[in-house]
Amino acid sequence: MTKAKSAKKVLDSFLVKGTDKSVRVGDTVLMRAEDSEKPPYVAKIEKIEADSRNNIKLRVRWYYRPEESKCGRRPFHGARELFLSDHYDIQSADTIEGTCTVHTFRNYIKLETVRADDFFCRFEYQAANGDFTPDRVAVYCICGLPYNPDNLMIQCEACKDWFHGHCVNLSTEQVITTEKYMCTGCSNTPENNRNKGIAPDT
Ligand SMILES: [Zn+2]
Ligand SMILES: [Zn+2]
Repeated sequence: MTKAKSAKKVLDSFLVKGTDKSVRVGDTVLMRAEDSEKPPYVAKIEKIEADSRNNIKLRVRWYYRPEESKCGRRPFHGARELFLSDHYDIQSADTIEGTCTVHTFRNYIKLETVRADDFFCRFEYQAANGDFTPDRVAVYCICGLPYNPDNLMIQCEACKDWFHGHCVNLSTEQVITTEKYMCTGCSNTPENNRNKGIAPDT
């Protein structure tokens, strides 16, 4: 009549050991790496399960840091960038060090202050073959690289393209204080200096 005593219980949330922090399905957490020299792993909680002795096991989906991916860290990867992988695992809740937030790229660049537990993700990553989704992103500047939120950029008034300060010989201070910027390409093109008139139909 009664179910086996070892039946597992699926939970919506639980308290992180030794804290008053509640973690729910869908939350992002930092998990202790086996190698204590390494930064903690970042994982998304997919499922929370407790056994009869209240040991909590988590089904997690790993976020990879750029250096953990096959292509390695590239110049346009931000310091807080993570890739949402297709790599799942079962982990003990005891390895949780704390919670963190993985922002969308759009929200991340709007943050006024980036705290130690703020990350962002703009790519999904297939751990087995090293592929990314999307497999291409918009590129900017004369260097033709995607946006790295750690590098300050300035927008050209005319072409609306974005440029890294260091690529167009502007200091950080100049990038911040310049109100209207015109890139070299645009300031050398006579058409773009004409503000009035009917747009040509070709
Ligand atoms: Zn550049
Ligand atoms: Zn321009």
